[in-house]
Amino acid sequence: MVAKSIIPTHMNLIPIPAFADNYIWMIHNEQDALVVDPGDAQPVLAVLRERNLQLKTILVTHHHADHVGGVDVLRQATGAEVIGPAGEDIPQPARGVSQDDTVQALGQTWSVMDVPGHTAGHIAFYTEAFEGAPLLFCGDTLFSGGCGRLFEGTPAQMLHAMDMFAALPGNTRVCCTHEYTLSNLRFARAVEPDNTALAQYQQHCEALRAAQQPTLPSTIATELAINPFMRSRQPTVRSAVTGTEDVATFAALRAWKNTF
Ligand code: ZN
Ligand code: FE
Repeated sequence: MVAKSIIPTHMNLIPIPAFADNYIWMIHNEQDALVVDPGDAQPVLAVLRERNLQLKTILVTHHHADHVGGVDVLRQATGAEVIGPAGEDIPQPARGVSQDDTVQALGQTWSVMDVPGHTAGHIAFYTEAFEGAPLLFCGDTLFSGGCGRLFEGTPAQMLHAMDMFAALPGNTRVCCTHEYTLSNLRFARAVEPDNTALAQYQQHCEALRAAQQPTLPSTIATELAINPFMRSRQPTVRSAVTGTEDVATFAALRAWKNTF
């Protein structure tokens, strides 16, 4: 038994697999826990039980069922506070937040970013210092090697979201909610066949998946080197599509990926 009287200082970050390819990110300090986008309650309850953790906070990035499906059960089972996008219909009661709001959870301060595109009110959560480096929960906006589909937003909005992420420190760990990396990287290779950093990263991620390890979290620096949607202004990416300016290039890239 871990002594619970000691004030916990070490924070842990774990991806809890759910459904076919979702990750429900959990952070905990051996005592209290926070989860992001619990599409399913059962895998979260199992981890809480196993590790004897108290769920305090549920963060939600957008309204899709694979991100909110477990919220009600978890709230009822644990009394956790739910914090999510002010502009979307998510399970209530929840505290609605948007750009420049801050959230205090597990002794840390999280900044809210508005990043519409995948959905109209999609938000992301960012903290400057999580065990020595920044951390980003970006939902279905940024994936490693890719970005979310534009269900409710425009290419201009998603490009703006990519630019907001690109402005974060390079060592920011990027916690995406789907393990889409390998299929994204196959597309990325088609866009930039001569990008050697991308080829190396693809090998690295293939080895991780062969060992049944997550490819996430990624980092902003990695995504800037390998992700065509973060690199849409690079000449190599621009010349791979027919777009002639920034938004048109991004739109053409997203349309190509939709049918790849
Ligand atoms: Zn989604
Ligand atoms: Fe999703």
